[in-house]
Amino acid sequence: MSGFAKKTVRDIDVRGKRVFVRVDFNVPLTDTGSVADDTRIRESLPTIRYLQEQGARVILGSHLGRPKGPDPKLSLRPVARRLEELLNAPVAFAEDCIGAPAFAVVEALEPGAVALLENLRFHPGEEANDPEFAKALAALCDVYVNDAFGTAHRAHASTEGIARLRPAVAGLLMEKELRYLGELVESPPRPFAAVVGGAKVSTKLGAVRRLLEKVDRLVIGGGMANTFLAAQGISVGRSLIETDLLPAAREILADAERRGVLVALPVDVVAAPSLEAEGEARVVPAQSIPDDLMALDIGPGSVEAFRRALEGCKAVVWNGPMGVFERPAFAKGSLAMANVIAGLEAVTVVGGGETVALVSQAGLQGRFTHVSTGGGASLEMLEGKVLPGVAALLDKDS
Ligand code: ADP
Ligand code: MG
Repeated sequence: MSGFAKKTVRDIDVRGKRVFVRVDFNVPLTDTGSVADDTRIRESLPTIRYLQEQGARVILGSHLGRPKGPDPKLSLRPVARRLEELLNAPVAFAEDCIGAPAFAVVEALEPGAVALLENLRFHPGEEANDPEFAKALAALCDVYVNDAFGTAHRAHASTEGIARLRPAVAGLLMEKELRYLGELVESPPRPFAAVVGGAKVSTKLGAVRRLLEKVDRLVIGGGMANTFLAAQGISVGRSLIETDLLPAAREILADAERRGVLVALPVDVVAAPSLEAEGEARVVPAQSIPDDLMALDIGPGSVEAFRRALEGCKAVVWNGPMGVFERPAFAKGSLAMANVIAGLEAVTVVGGGETVALVSQAGLQGRFTHVSTGGGASLEMLEGKVLPGVAALLDKDS
């Protein structure tokens, strides 16, 4: 297996050391302020448990939401409570992520014990990657671990600044994410297919262009397919399209043809007069979407065409729902494709915030090889970008 060239927690001595772990505990909260979905907390447990077993003093830092300064509604305290349940051990909580409150908590940590710091984004220095704030975080620890893949595409103080001040390595979740996504784009088993969807072409243009250089087959569904249909001169009624991207869509289709990449676009769609008019939804051919309707899902003919396009593939990367799956009338295409991809005898990797939500709503996460925890970060990796939070970590051979 190729690819993963960064040191991990397994490559350094952490015994007795104060280890700052940047985790992604940006979890959804309920109205009453408890953790609504603890997936992200559970994803970080392998790294935390490994460090505990090694006798490290574990200091966890995360952001939660987008606070503008301290905000009790975005406190990480409820996360500390859930983490205690999951670890079956006490988790100390520091009222502030830097300064005296943080020091007091860290000083009291025994080897193998765990503390969680308050929301890093209560300080504007976090997102500004302020060197002083990074220094204040670094003062708490001897070693830095980044396990927050979902934030690794941002150069913030806790993802980038601090990594320059302490020996910096990847956590086990970070390692797993980089392995699966990295290997898939570097040396995929073939045939290799990409399935892309979601609302817009614009947010995924870079990824689609780069994937085109790597894949054998490209399946395009969801809202972004409308722009590709329109680029071929097909009238798409009132569907969402990005007129300024019609030339880019044409270029992608021409490039695919030059490269011999098979492109599959919807042959039928579920259309309705508006998002709200779920009762009026009907299947129409993609070639003749009525002027007063908008395409909001792929139809059963498209699912069948996409299934055939993916037949025999040995690797599939999927990013972007096939329709407005948040509404039951427009969810069938996405659910059907989730089952089609999950059913392949192939390496299957899913990324993208909404796509992952769809897969877990359908209870299918266990049927994919890897479900990425990072939306934007996974997309940037597919684009071939180097994530600043990864670049800052020690190289394996250093
Ligand atoms: P991800 O977060 O998985 O990367 P995106 O953010 O690109 O996915 O897109 C997800 C959104 O795309 C969903 O909220 C869905 O409602 C929307 N979407 C999918 N198909 C359509 C469509 N045909 N028209 C409008 N919106 C769509
Ligand atoms: Mg999204």
